[in-house]
Amino acid sequence: MIAPGETIGILGGGQLGRMIAMAAAQLGYRCHVYAPEADAIAADVCAQFTCAAWDDAAAMAAFAADCAVVTYEFENVPVAPLAALGDTPLLAHARALETAQDRLVEKRFVAELGGTPAPFMPVDTPADLAAAVAAIGAPGILKTRRDGYDGKGQWRIMTPGDAATLHLPATALIYEGFVDFFAEFSVILCRGADGDIRFFDSAHNVHENGILDTSTLPAPADLQAQVSAARDLAGKVAAALDYVGVLTLEFFATAHGPVFNEMAPRVHNSGHWTIEGAITSQFENHVRAICGLPLGDTRLAAKGVVMRNLIGDDVHDWQAILADPANHLHLYGKAAARPGRKMGHVTRLVLD
Ligand code: AMP
Repeated sequence: MIAPGETIGILGGGQLGRMIAMAAAQLGYRCHVYAPEADAIAADVCAQFTCAAWDDAAAMAAFAADCAVVTYEFENVPVAPLAALGDTPLLAHARALETAQDRLVEKRFVAELGGTPAPFMPVDTPADLAAAVAAIGAPGILKTRRDGYDGKGQWRIMTPGDAATLHLPATALIYEGFVDFFAEFSVILCRGADGDIRFFDSAHNVHENGILDTSTLPAPADLQAQVSAARDLAGKVAAALDYVGVLTLEFFATAHGPVFNEMAPRVHNSGHWTIEGAITSQFENHVRAICGLPLGDTRLAAKGVVMRNLIGDDVHDWQAILADPANHLHLYGKAAARPGRKMGHVTRLVLD
């Protein structure tokens, strides 16, 4: 067990790290952020900040020496440099990172455990793409295998003709069939070091331009009917990875049951509602899990919850949001409100 007063290392300096650090502080831990960018917003709420490149082995080793345990808030942390952490435990284990960093590896892994992803084929050349579109059909989505997020690194292929004219980026790709879904949801679980698993309620997630816009609970009945099968799969993924901490799997709810989209080996935007809306937040439970503490109750703390992301210029509405006393406003302290950038979120509880 890692007792309060010890230091938790966080790889990545964004809003997820910031909210992990805030939950850790409530339990009496210190946090040390490691991030390559100088303006890491997680560092604003942490005792220590190492600003260094991922492959700076000396900086990584010095960081590890200051930490009792290391976690990550960003799934694209390069894995090889993490060898410099030495004996300091990394939770969740690096295998979760390796699996989630490559869409092809991730989909094969989940399919082997009995999950249903959209039909997919790897694409490295224009001939591969033509073959994939012929086998899977169009419409479909071509995605980079690595480094994509929030709909970035994706190209919609509406017809085989689109595939023929597309200039392929020089990186490994995957072609997926377009899923005919009626809703999107995620399963967010927390697994303790002892294998104890707690599931948070699944919200109905609505995306705009590939970016999460709202998460609403309770989800409609037709979506809730798919949660049990999705949880079964998520529990298998967590057990297979000997996972410790919060793990997220995203799903499409379809007429044929849940279709796996992707996993994130970390706390997740679609779980921000848990800060006020669950008895224990995803951030606190993640800290509890990686420190070997008992997990907290994940049940809803209200009749319902709505979380809305503040993207880009939405952040300028902060005064109007605060004018309604029922709103819980979270601002991440980012300097520039670029289009598509997650600047904060606002949560409302439904109490009666
Ligand atoms: P991703 O980054 O893969 O989660 O994709 C972002 C969003 O694009 C998803 O939340 C969906 O709304 C949409 N999307 C991604 N893949 C598919 C697919 N195979 N079929 C239909 N919609 C998709």
